[in-house]
Amino acid sequence: MRINNKECLYSKQNGFSIVPIDLSPTVLKGSEVLIRPEMVGICGSDLYHLETYEGENLRLGHEWTGQVLAVGPDVKSIAISDRVTSSAVLACGKCPHCQKREYNFCVQSEILGSEKIGALRSWMIIEEHNLLKTTESDLKAATLLEVIAVGEQAYLHLAALNNTSGATLIFGAGSVGLCLAEVAKRKGIKPVIIELTQTRKERAEKLGHEVYTLSQALMNPKFDHHFGIIFDASGDHCDGKGAWSFIAHFGKKEFAAVMIAKYTKKFSFNPDALAKLSARLIWMRGVHPDCLIQTIKDWEKTEALKRLTNELVSHVFQFETETSKAFETAGNQNLAGKVMIKLT
Ligand SMILES: [Zn+2]
Ligand SMILES: [Zn+2]
Repeated sequence: MRINNKECLYSKQNGFSIVPIDLSPTVLKGSEVLIRPEMVGICGSDLYHLETYEGENLRLGHEWTGQVLAVGPDVKSIAISDRVTSSAVLACGKCPHCQKREYNFCVQSEILGSEKIGALRSWMIIEEHNLLKTTESDLKAATLLEVIAVGEQAYLHLAALNNTSGATLIFGAGSVGLCLAEVAKRKGIKPVIIELTQTRKERAEKLGHEVYTLSQALMNPKFDHHFGIIFDASGDHCDGKGAWSFIAHFGKKEFAAVMIAKYTKKFSFNPDALAKLSARLIWMRGVHPDCLIQTIKDWEKTEALKRLTNELVSHVFQFETETSKAFETAGNQNLAGKVMIKLT
């Protein structure tokens, strides 16, 4: 089947446009899979890209779900009309890391949501090893699975330190922070969340979480060196701001912190406060494929996913006609939860 042929392109000069692309190929090679993306979620890192991008050809979209239209002759685990998703890192499948299935460390990966390829297009070709099947029928819920996997991966890192319970603090109630809080809740842990934006705070409260502003938390003597586990889900930063500078205030002796937030530029810090507490810091590097597989298995078609989707997904816009409106809305933290773009 040959399908419609458009993609979304962003340029610093001209903003968003929907441009024609080639028709999808009729013949697939090896383990190639032809997919029609059905839903794409807008992520904080997409917005960060938009803010910092200086070029003419940015292709956004890395949280996605889609339907398989055709498979190459070597594809075994995926069939036509399956619903699939992937991590944002499309691994080469051949390098030393990929040979060990550590796809998130692939040295020749292609990143979805880059100049080369994004999921906001009528069709994509992705190799079988990068795809994960889901039986979740709600497109919004299926698209959230990748974000939830980030939270599950953060907990796996803690498990490697034999440290998954205890007073838990999450910086940020954006999509990642909130998914992480729900992951914690399902493990029987009741986290404390710090969030600056009122709407996000209210959303987290609606899901039953205990949420404070940063100043409330800083002024609460109970929280001084109180937390054994800290997650930094405060987003992407290039200026050294973010939760980083506060973790030593809240962490207790030998606390573990998982850094999901990205700090893209050098900034100065004083290691002494962390050394005094013998802090253990773990920096996230994507999601391991097995974690994604397990997350899909554990979460698809659950009440917990349904509830999270209902609270978190605030807007769904149409591809072609409403793409720039979708990004504009997503950029307004006081208005938007998770914003998604529907392609079919
Ligand atoms: Zn993302
Ligand atoms: Zn590789």
